[in-house]
Formats: sequence, C-alpha cells, structure tokens
Amino acid sequence: MEISFIKQLKNKAGRLIENQLLKTGRVNDVRNLESSGLIELEVHLPHINMHNWNQVPYIKFRVDDLSFRDYTPFGWDAETSTCSVIIDSDHQGPGSQWAKNLQTGDTIYYIGTDSTRQSPHPTDFVVGLGDASGIGHLLALQQLTVPVSRFESAVVIDSSETGQLLQENYSPALNIMSSIEELAGWLVKQGYCTAHTWFYLIGNNQMVVALRKQLKSMGHSHIQVKGFWN
Ligand SMILES: Cc1cc2nc3c(=O)[nH]c(=O)nc-3n(C[C@H](O)[C@H](O)[C@H](O)COP(=O)(O)OP(=O)(O)OC[C@H]3O[C@@H](n4cnc5c(N)ncnc54)[C@H](O)[C@@H]3O)c2cc1C
Repeated sequence: MEISFIKQLKNKAGRLIENQLLKTGRVNDVRNLESSGLIELEVHLPHINMHNWNQVPYIKFRVDDLSFRDYTPFGWDAETSTCSVIIDSDHQGPGSQWAKNLQTGDTIYYIGTDSTRQSPHPTDFVVGLGDASGIGHLLALQQLTVPVSRFESAVVIDSSETGQLLQENYSPALNIMSSIEELAGWLVKQGYCTAHTWFYLIGNNQMVVALRKQLKSMGHSHIQVKGFWN
C-alpha cells in the first residue's frame, strides 16, 4: 500500500516536471517502407533552431508516459523547421509502438535536441556504416558532407526489397548488405586508404564493436563509434 502511494507520488511529480520541459511539434507525413518495419516521420518542430546543426544531432522524443527515446533527424530544412526521422520498429518497445501509432497531423512531444558530436571530416573521405536503426544518422552524415562525392555508406538490411527502396528514395550512396559478414567482405574489397578515410559506425552495440575491431585489424585508426542499443 505504502509503496504504491510512493509510486503514485513519483509519477505525479514526474508528470509535472515533464509538462514543464516538453515542447510540441507536428507530424506532417508518415511513410511505412514496404516489406520492413521502417517508418519515416516527417515532422515540423517550430521551436528548434536547425541553422546550427553542423554535427549529427538527435532529438529526445516522448514516446510514452515518462518514457523517452532518441531519434536522429535528417533532411532538415532550417527555414521551415522541418526534418525527418526513420525509426526501425521491427521489435517490441515503447519507441517502436509510438512510431507505429502515429498519423499525419498528430501532435508530438520532445524534450530537446543535442549533438552526437559526430561530424564528417572536413576534407578526407567519409564512410558511414550502420544498421536499420542508424539509417537516419547515415543520411544526416551525408547531408553534412560537402562535397557529397566524398561520402559513401553501407547499411545492413536483411530485405533486398527494402534495400532497393532505400537506395531509390533516400540515397544511391547507401550500399545494401544482407549481413554483417557481407559488410565485412565489402570493406576488404573497397581498399580504403588508411591515411585519408574516416569511418563512422552507428547502430547495434555488438555490430559497431565488431566492425571497429575489423577496421583496426585492417590498419585503420580514424574511427568514430555510436552504439544505440544492445
Ligand atoms: C543518439 C541516438 C540516436 C538514435 N537514433 C535512432 C534512429 O534514428 N532510429 C532508430 O530506429 N533508433 C534510433 N536510436 C535508438 C532508439 O533511441 C531506441 O533505443 C530504439 O528505437 C529502441 O527503443 P524501443 O522503445 O522501441 O525499444 P526498447 O524498449 O528500448 O528495447 C526493447 C528491446 O528491443 C531491442 N531493440 C531495440 N532497438 C532495436 C532494433 N533497432 N532492432 C532490433 N531490436 C531492437 C532491445 O535490445 C530490447 O531488447 C537512437 C539512439 C541514440 C542513443
């Protein structure tokens, strides 16, 4: 009885604090990528200044009562304060459920944005490697790389149909890999220069650790890692 009262009190206090901190935005469009759990949300976030996004940012969205998840914006237009996020919803979780329930016109809530501290090297070749949860990050990295001809990426997606949709609708610079083993073989074939190539690894923790190890064994040292989930 006493524990339940303390829990209720904590929830009430949490909600009060949450309401003070939350900012609102609007869903402009929802696109479900066929044959995958990938959901793209195009959102309008009028309270965010996107002009200073020169490192890959992330946004902390409220996905449920007192529950927050980070998602990576890409394709932002600072003039209209719009951007997109791609959410991998192919598992059970509050973030995944939130994305599945959203519809065009819905109000969304977020606490704010921050930087992942990853920005493309200003002159060297930039290579982004990730999984389905890292697609937004790879696209943001591409958006920040000037000229874009210095950018290449590869993403592990087990459906070739989804891979084709991603290349056609988001970026031809996304090489589609069916497994981490295929990605490892592809990396060896690319023969990237160790002195002038920078790698950015994004997504599942085990995957980024394994890729980092492989790149190190190939003599690469310019590697930045951002692990998202276990
Ligand atoms: C800086 C940052 C940026 C991020 N950007 C994105 C983004 O743009 N898009 C995106 O989809 N995610 C992104 N993530 C991950 C995201 O914040 C959530 O961790 C993820 O969506 C899981 O939340 P959930 O509530 O759905 O599942 P949780 O309740 O957190 O997890 C439930 C279970 O699902 C597993 N799981 C979690 N994610 C996946 C997955 N992708 N595939 C398979 N199993 C999974 C977990 O290991 C756990 O067992 C980012 C994370 C960080 C730290």
